[in-house]
Amino acid sequence: MVKDSIKRRKPNILVTGTPGTGKTTTSTAPAEATQLNHINIGDLVKEKNLHDGWDDELDSYILNEDLVCDELEDVMDEGGNIVDYHGCDFFPERWFDCVVVLQTDNTILYDRLSRRGYKESKLSNNVEREIFQVLLEEVKESYAEDKVVALKSDTIEDISRNVATLTDWIRNWSIQV
Ligand code: ADP
Ligand code: MN
Repeated sequence: MVKDSIKRRKPNILVTGTPGTGKTTTSTAPAEATQLNHINIGDLVKEKNLHDGWDDELDSYILNEDLVCDELEDVMDEGGNIVDYHGCDFFPERWFDCVVVLQTDNTILYDRLSRRGYKESKLSNNVEREIFQVLLEEVKESYAEDKVVALKSDTIEDISRNVATLTDWIRNWSIQV
């Protein structure tokens, strides 16, 4: 398991969390500062049609997990990626050196998602998932504990601190390998 990461010259990081917790905002600056690729899975799925159509009920694409993993395999072997997605359990565990779970207070998240124009069922579904820490549980089931970091993402200060933490972590990783 450790050997896999030693082959990479730059780390792979998964930034996950319920929609609206700040994954894309938090991933962009560290990726630019350290020249890692920022891979927004939602955008990739749309661009490359890595889905099985649209789910009207969930109001989102039905992601095809096999197509997504096939698409990413080479670039993940290479290393140097920040993967940004609100799911975590279908990626191979060996891909990631660090898994970050962003967490947001549920009233703050509610406001962010309503500003984003989410319809009521999608909004309450996601806020509920956040309250019950569904993603954190999924991450803990899918990845070794020492790779998992939960970070609070309520305020602008939280973003600054999380961006700095991630950027430092990437720089240190690259030095150590
Ligand atoms: P995600 O990619 O997880 O869906 P985004 O990064 O797109 O989330 O953020 C959703 C919205 O919430 C954006 O308008 C962003 O500016 C805002 N936001 C995200 N995190 C924070 C935070 N910690 N403090 C204040 N606003 C935030
Ligand atoms: Mn996003």
